[in-house]
Amino acid sequence: MKLSYNRTKIVATMGPASAKKETLLAMVKAGVNICRLNFSHGKAEDHQKVIDTIREINEQYKLNIGILADLQGPKIRIGLVKDGGIHLVNGKHVKITTNECIGDDEQIYITYETFPQDVQAGETILLDDGKLQLKVIETNRKDTVICEVLHGGILTSRKGVNLPNTKVSIPSLTEEDLVNLEQALANDVEWIGLSFVRNAEDIVELKRIIARNGKASRVIAKIEKPEAIENIDAIIEVTDGVMVARGDLGVEMPLEEVPLLQKMIARKCRAASKPVIVATQMLESMITTPRPTRAEVNDVANSVLDGADAVMLSGETSVGEFPVIVIETMAKIVRNVEEMGYPYNSNKEVNEDPASQNYLSDALCGSAVYLSEHTNAVGIVSMTTSGYTAFQISSYRPKAGTYIFTSNRNLLNALSLLWGVKTFYYDGLESTDKTISDVNAILKSENLIDAGDVVINTAAVPIAAQGKTNMLKVTVVE
Ligand code: PGA
Repeated sequence: MKLSYNRTKIVATMGPASAKKETLLAMVKAGVNICRLNFSHGKAEDHQKVIDTIREINEQYKLNIGILADLQGPKIRIGLVKDGGIHLVNGKHVKITTNECIGDDEQIYITYETFPQDVQAGETILLDDGKLQLKVIETNRKDTVICEVLHGGILTSRKGVNLPNTKVSIPSLTEEDLVNLEQALANDVEWIGLSFVRNAEDIVELKRIIARNGKASRVIAKIEKPEAIENIDAIIEVTDGVMVARGDLGVEMPLEEVPLLQKMIARKCRAASKPVIVATQMLESMITTPRPTRAEVNDVANSVLDGADAVMLSGETSVGEFPVIVIETMAKIVRNVEEMGYPYNSNKEVNEDPASQNYLSDALCGSAVYLSEHTNAVGIVSMTTSGYTAFQISSYRPKAGTYIFTSNRNLLNALSLLWGVKTFYYDGLESTDKTISDVNAILKSENLIDAGDVVINTAAVPIAAQGKTNMLKVTVVE
């Protein structure tokens, strides 16, 4: 089966390797749909430059590349250590202190002020992505925690700390996050990612701030803590999208559980019509080599099969040597799985609960996909104001293209994250007949549909009222 575009989307993390406009443009042409700004690194002015470049490219080439601003969240780090690195020896004791100091093999500073109060004897402390492991022996509940080194090694300055068993009391949005959030909102960034989400309230709080600022940015909950896995249903219910953040998830949970957690999260997100991004180390070896390992190719392909809306690149595009080749490679892997016909799977349960607010439009979206299959339609063409219809149709993973028309400019880039969705601006909302004929003509001029093709149109009628989707039509393109 030939596809006119990839259904599974590509998120690329921006950094020094992708900062130049020509490089970014080449990456976009190779298949990037969403650019991710990682606020764990980089300065505000660097992020601003990237935002401005993406907006310029969108304007100049009539594209809808969205931006995901990824907030660091309550990430814990150690402080500076002496001599560029210290050696922690198995079986030895080391103090973790909240009093700022240059670390040595006796004591190490931690950036988490209430750590001695929150931690319990017996809990695990992981350093540098889990490479080093300590066990808590005792805490004085004030400023010092004594630990035993279980897996030692060399520890360098400012490495990350993971506390898989500790109930961390740091707020989900740090002061630094709030500063970064302000910049993201001032730029009307479409998606805001929150790291180390623990429960639904973390997401609700972020959404409250976005709403208070009068912004429409949507939220991605990064799942990377055991607590988030415990609360996954409640988190999916309140968030707009999810990221399986396998880097930290694989540190905080047993590594061998990550593949099945990925599948579980992808399944639940699709059932809830919320997009899910699979992230981290997808084509890691391509940071330094132009060809991926066979295992990496398998990982990307399997993530597509798991039902990911998007697959993400991190260091590969932010600091790697081959930022364009890695996108081309990822796009090819995705395309091959899709052309073989695997990811389509419309047997999703349709919401038939009359008590739920959207059940009529949900039923209509499910029927649109069903009808598209039974008429061999090449496209499902929908008008939307809120974007709701796009989330619904996409979640059925239709074979037909999903073409979303909206007069809501903010939605155009945001929906670029959703599986299969292609967006178009349209504001001639006068009559249903005119709208349908206009949008089909636009798709024809874009070579996405042809005379004689069947398309399924959905809209809210009367069209000027911009209400909920309530109309389904089969059209043979003239
Ligand atoms: P990060 O998140 O890139 O912010 O670390 C992704 C992950 O942990 O997998």
